[in-house]
Amino acid sequence: MARVAIVTGGTRGIGEAISLALKDAGMIVAANYAGNEEKAKAFTERTGIASYKWDVGDYDACHEGVAKVAAELGPVDVVVNNAGITRDGTILKMSRDMWEDVIRINLGGCFNMAHAVFPGMRDRKWGRIVNIGSINGQAGQYGQVNYAAAKSGIHGFTKALSQEGARFGVTVNAIAPGYIDTDMVAAVPAEVLEKIVAKIPVGRLGQAHEIARGVAFLCSDEAGFVTGSTLSINGGQHMY
Ligand code: NDP
Repeated sequence: MARVAIVTGGTRGIGEAISLALKDAGMIVAANYAGNEEKAKAFTERTGIASYKWDVGDYDACHEGVAKVAAELGPVDVVVNNAGITRDGTILKMSRDMWEDVIRINLGGCFNMAHAVFPGMRDRKWGRIVNIGSINGQAGQYGQVNYAAAKSGIHGFTKALSQEGARFGVTVNAIAPGYIDTDMVAAVPAEVLEKIVAKIPVGRLGQAHEIARGVAFLCSDEAGFVTGSTLSINGGQHMY
């Protein structure tokens, strides 16, 4: 029977590529999103993949969202925690809200989603959880104490949860992308982006599908012995 996968933030950017890669791998995919109805509608029309709106930073909404997907598509076997936001600023300019929003959505979202799906995966003795971290969680980044802390937290969360999932056939891994050509990176000022690209050994930004291939591998049956790991896909920018 086809596996059911939820991709958070799965309607655009890296998430869209992940949704498509999992569909290509034969899974039934539910793409979650936060509120950009226009992009979600266009995505569903283009791909035939169902989209579901909820805020991953909201614990109850995640549990309700997972229950809805399970009722409509079947028990959830795979979760890709991809949804993420940036609220950049140096610490002198960072408000408490900027800090809390990023921690709540980027890191809290991983807990909320894992908490909702883990009991079912344990009972069915199979599961795949892939968390999208970041090079900036590994190396740090000026103006991003909130984002770097959340992403670094994701890497620790992954290693800890993988130890709990191992005996139930549930693997938990992370991918740490470098700079990928999406709306998130389009928001970076051109002169800053130029300096960033100059530091990438392969000399270009990554493409969303290059992250998606890694996710598809980690979600496959063949990756059953891979757990607690972080796969860095960053054009050689940071060796970790
Ligand atoms: P985008 O900004 O292009 O897309 C973000 C997606 O996440 C959208 O689908 C958005 O939904 C969704 N989202 C945002 N907040 C929430 C929320 N609270 N609840 C549910 N969904 C939410 O991001 P990218 O594709 O660039 O990034 C995807 C992931 O990869 C993020 O975790 C990011 O931190 C990480 N990453 C990205 C890098 C890059 O260079 N682009 C580098 C390293 C890591 P909606 O469309 O409704 O707004």
